[in-house]
Amino acid sequence: MRDLGNALQLARETGVALGHFNVSDLVLLKAVFSSAQDLKVPVLVGASEGEREFMGVRQIAALVRSLREEFDFPVFLNADHTHSLEKALEAAKAGFDSVVFDASALPFEQNIRETKGAVEALKSINPSILVEGEIGNIGTGSEIHELATDLSKYLTTPSEAKQFVELTRVDVLAPAVGNMHGMSQEMVEGEKKKRLDIERIAQIRTAARVPLTLHGGSGTDDGDLVQAIAAGISIIHINTELRVAWRRGLEAGLAAEPNQVVPYKILPVAVESVKQVTLSRLRLFNQIAKPAIGKKDMAASTAREQQAVP
Ligand SMILES: [Zn+2]
Repeated sequence: MRDLGNALQLARETGVALGHFNVSDLVLLKAVFSSAQDLKVPVLVGASEGEREFMGVRQIAALVRSLREEFDFPVFLNADHTHSLEKALEAAKAGFDSVVFDASALPFEQNIRETKGAVEALKSINPSILVEGEIGNIGTGSEIHELATDLSKYLTTPSEAKQFVELTRVDVLAPAVGNMHGMSQEMVEGEKKKRLDIERIAQIRTAARVPLTLHGGSGTDDGDLVQAIAAGISIIHINTELRVAWRRGLEAGLAAEPNQVVPYKILPVAVESVKQVTLSRLRLFNQIAKPAIGKKDMAASTAREQQAVP
């Protein structure tokens, strides 16, 4: 699997989706990479403008590149929600595999103009970089919100999607299909799930004719996610669920040994906590059953996992 475009095409052909997980430190990156390695599936690491600011644009690019090279593993890096051309170019120059150019807060015509310009500029730096554009409103902030916003009235229409892709020439489209960034407290407790408009996803996929990304996937109904993949979603973003697991794991690690000051003795608890989420999501997106304890089942699962990596 040479590049992200290749991985996306293969995902589409085999009816699975790439998991996209945001990272802002080494705990999250270790959890994401080790889950993908365990399951032998390609994975997309995401870093938003804020996350890049914290880690360093070239530094996160170097980390992900080192994993890809040392383990000869399909791990890719995406510059998530990039609002300015300057930041998009900075990521492309650092070697990111894709950029989400997000001008969705602007009026539609202006979003088209700016995204089209970004596609041209980014491809001139790296012709094989993938550029994703975004239309519609799916809220901002992958965090816990007081109230869940009702975004069902802002769904992307198939004709908007078609026009946007044709005029901007983006490689990937992020529509609003019932998804939203962040989670409500009820979602964190598992009492409520986001629901997706599956029919709308299928209509948009047919009209746009490019792979689709589902943003704000945290707290979404599992059945809806599976149906969304079948309807045309090829990348699913999970961030808030990871952040919740990161905090809980960190707190548990600190509480377990109140006098411990050695980071690498505390942080593995946080890695393990995040890994529970990334493993569960990657299994769902790649149709990998959770292995049963029996020896026979383990062997069958290993065989399937080996098949999953070309
Ligand atoms: Zn997003």
